Amino acid sequence: MAKCLVTGGAGFIGSHLTERLLEAGHHVVVLDNLSTGRAVNLDAVCDHPNLTIRTGSITDSVLLGEVVHGVEIIYHLAAAVGVKLVADDPVRTIETNIYPTEQLLRFAASGNVKKFFLASTSEVYGKHPGDAWVEDDDLHLGPTSRPRWAYGCSKAIDEFLALAYFQKYGLGVTIGRFFNVVGPRQVGNYGMVVPRFVEAALNGGTVTVYDDGSQVRCFGHVNEVVKCVHALVEEDGAEGRVFNIGSDQAVSILELAQRVIAKVDPKVDIRFVPYGEAYGDDFEDVQRRVPNTNRLLETIGQRPTMPLDDILDSIIAWKKAGMAQSADGPVK
Ligand code: UDP
Repeated sequence: MAKCLVTGGAGFIGSHLTERLLEAGHHVVVLDNLSTGRAVNLDAVCDHPNLTIRTGSITDSVLLGEVVHGVEIIYHLAAAVGVKLVADDPVRTIETNIYPTEQLLRFAASGNVKKFFLASTSEVYGKHPGDAWVEDDDLHLGPTSRPRWAYGCSKAIDEFLALAYFQKYGLGVTIGRFFNVVGPRQVGNYGMVVPRFVEAALNGGTVTVYDDGSQVRCFGHVNEVVKCVHALVEEDGAEGRVFNIGSDQAVSILELAQRVIAKVDPKVDIRFVPYGEAYGDDFEDVQRRVPNTNRLLETIGQRPTMPLDDILDSIIAWKKAGMAQSADGPVK
């Protein structure tokens, strides 16, 4: 069993990955600055004897030196998250995504780290015009006058950097590009559409669909996504390579809104909101984002396939349980 470091381990995806690694018998050190991650996400495992939680920044060299000591596998998930955060603060987005990754790679290459998983994103494809995007496709990042692309650009630099460490120092880098990962513990504060729709519908409010809702996404359940991440890192053939990780079941945002409303409360209304009102006039959306996940399937024999209805049921059930708990007393 290995000693693993999960940066961003108190975040939405990081906390699920931490649970999975503990279940598999690994020792896990979580490093999180709790900027968007939440300690409550680790409540189910916080007393686990194989878990150490450290609060702080990757940019703190003294802390990082302690944390990386003895670590064999790094899962680097800490990053700026959410379209809203990126639109509001591109400086923070770029700084959060680039320098800490560089620092972590440097520490990893000079220590005993054997494997390094970099969490990247479908945003690196930008406004790719193709249908099912393949890992070796060209990137179509938009103009620098549109702050949204700061996120994809900064993660693309992380990818180049991590692969350069693989080539130059033999660090066992694997890159996963996440496509719209959803599930329990994801919050809507940073723009994520599924928790926003579910929260609005459960509160009897209005579901806000941006533009005309014809934009298309594929939603993958976090449990399946972290299973794939874990399998990729255990798989020797994945080193030095990039993998799309997500579902390929495409749905329009308007249909998503209709499905959430049908499940939660048919009386809830949809309001169509122009992008400018939501994110400012310099915003650009991705019209269609669908991955080709053949490389993932060929390499680890699995990929996320959970039907959207089941995914939505699990999120609605989680949200309802939280609401019931907060009605009874403090939410943990
Ligand atoms: N969206 C929406 N209403 C919301 C939040 C998002 O219509 O309250 C749309 C958004 O414009 C995008 C899609 O839902 O087309 C997915 O948005 P999200 O921020 O979850 O992820 P993205 O795929 O844009 O990174």
